[in-house]
Amino acid sequence: MSAVVKLANVHKSFGSNKVLDGVSFEVGRGEVAAVIGQSGSGKSTALRCINALETIEGGTIEVCGHAVHDKALDRRNLRRDVGIVFQSYNLFPHLTVEQNIMLAPTCVKALSKQKARDLAHEVLARVGLGEKAGHYPEQLSGGQQQRVAIARSLAMQPKLMLFDEVTSALDPQLTGEVLKVMEDLARGGMTMILVTHEMAFARKVASKVVYMHKGKVWETGPGSMLDKPTTPELADFVGSGL
Ligand code: ADP
Ligand code: MG
Repeated sequence: MSAVVKLANVHKSFGSNKVLDGVSFEVGRGEVAAVIGQSGSGKSTALRCINALETIEGGTIEVCGHAVHDKALDRRNLRRDVGIVFQSYNLFPHLTVEQNIMLAPTCVKALSKQKARDLAHEVLARVGLGEKAGHYPEQLSGGQQQRVAIARSLAMQPKLMLFDEVTSALDPQLTGEVLKVMEDLARGGMTMILVTHEMAFARKVASKVVYMHKGKVWETGPGSMLDKPTTPELADFVGSGL
């Protein structure tokens, strides 16, 4: 399996705070990696480094053939290949759902309006919101807005999708519909890395679980490792129900 993402001995500090302390892991094509761990363990920072939203001080990061650690990295090229979705969906309130989705394909990829509109309808259908193209974000529930944010990323036809706690701000009844979209994406072969507190989801969908603790990859393995932790830290984490 060829690696889409490869972190090797990555180091990152904020001032004297060592946030990533020799992080290494790989994600192969079509793989779904769930990154779990206590708050502050470095999960978001790791994700942000993969998309070059942070620079690193040591180690290497290869993503879809881009050397992300290289000072000469072309960030625009990298971000054509990598979609990222955050907890806050950040849709433009004055644009319709369709216009929100068309923005990047027309501006960044110079797609014609008609092609971008077709694409918008295609990705909206994939997230089950084909009927909402003409709506404004405020007319949608939080779960629906997050699905639009996912659709907006998909419209750039990324090779890799990153999700950082995309359901954390949602009510439990809206969480399920977003997880369903992510599960469909995974089943469709999308390579994904997701930071999540949804342990049941990680167990079910992830081909690989990366447990981070104090800026290190403490344990990594298939979803079943959550049932048989080999470190007391992961046992504690899983046992706490977080
Ligand atoms: P997690 O996502 O696992 O909760 P983060 O990667 O967000 O952890 O944060 C890890 C550590 O890095 C925390 O101590 C946090 O305060 C610190 N940190 C994250 N981002 C910044 C930043 N931009 N500036 C300074 N410190 C930061
Ligand atoms: Mg985080």
